[in-house]
Parts: sequence; C-alpha cells; structure tokens
Amino acid sequence: DCSLADLLAPLLLSAKAIAQERHLKLKTEIPKNLPLVRANIKALQEVLSNIIDNALKYTPKGGKIFIQVGQERENFIGIAISDTGPGIPQEDITHLGERHYRGVQAQTEIPGTGLGLAIAKQLIEQMQGEIEIFSPAINSAITSPDTPGTTFIIWLPISQ
Ligand code: ATP
Ligand code: MG
Repeated sequence: DCSLADLLAPLLLSAKAIAQERHLKLKTEIPKNLPLVRANIKALQEVLSNIIDNALKYTPKGGKIFIQVGQERENFIGIAISDTGPGIPQEDITHLGERHYRGVQAQTEIPGTGLGLAIAKQLIEQMQGEIEIFSPAINSAITSPDTPGTTFIIWLPISQ
C-alpha cells in the first residue's frame, strides 16, 4: 500500500525547481487524507517522473502545469497532470504505447527516446491501473484558448 502524498513529495520538489528554471508555473492540489493506493512504489515513481518530465520539457516558457490528485471513480483514484503545451495529435496518441515512438515533438530539438510512455503504460497496467490521455487538455484550471495542452490521468486502485 502506498501513500500518494508521500510518493509525490520528492518528485514535486524537483519539478518545482525545474519549472522555475524553465519559467513555467507549477500548481499542485493534493488533498489531505487521501486513501492509500495499491501500487508498486518504484514503478509508480518512474511513471510519474516521466509524465511530469514530459510536461516540463514539452511546455514552452510561460506555460502552466497543474498536478491534481483525487479525481474519483469507483475504487480508483486519479492523478491528473495537465499542461498548456502544444498538445498531442490524436494520430500520435494512438501510437504512444509503442516503444521508441516519438510524436511531432521528435521533429524538434527536444531530446527523448520515446520510451517513457510505452513503459509507463505497461507498468500501470501491471498494477491494474490505467492511463488516460486528453488533448486538448481537460483541466479548466489551466487551459487557454491558444494552446491545446495535454492532460494525463493515471488511475490507481484504492487499497481495500
Ligand atoms: P523519453 O523516453 O525520454 O521519455 P520522450 O519524452 O520522447 O522520450 P515519451 O515520454 O514516451 O517519450 O513521449 C512520447 C511522445 O509523446 C513524445 O516524443 C512527444 O511527442 C509526445 N508527448 C508526451 N508528453 C507530451 C506533452 N506533455 N506535451 C506534448 N507532447 C507530449
Ligand atoms: Mg518522456
């Protein structure tokens, strides 16, 4: 059993430092008294750091990132990571489970191996969780009319 608040604390600390360096606003909303989740801690850390790292590297200067825990679904808790970046075209979203697939961002100078999300999907499925991707982003707290943005939601089973 795993406390999301404890698991996220060190990740958010380093994300805040990177956000500041890259001139991005990082907002977080993590309620107290969250239920514990059933997850492999090491694997979940790896998944979250890749998704947060993506938001930080693909969102241009001046953009916003919002990390919110507590979306609800029966027996699951959701961690949403939204950004005001360029978004991911539908065509790319369908390929994100493939190893080494890089989307339109691959044509830019932003480095990456295209492995992060393929591994993330596999690890989360092993925990009986799910990853949802929305682009345009669905987080009304950050989306703006000029950029589509992206929202990832990681759903994890609540411990019984
Ligand atoms: P790495 O293995 O270093 O994580 P990567 O970031 O390219 O490399 P993934 O994390 O798997 O690989 O992401 C796959 C592709 O999805 C990226 O190349 C990029 O095109 C797109 N992508 C992922 N997250 C975002 C995001 N937040 N905004 C825009 N595009 C994104
Ligand atoms: Mg990545």
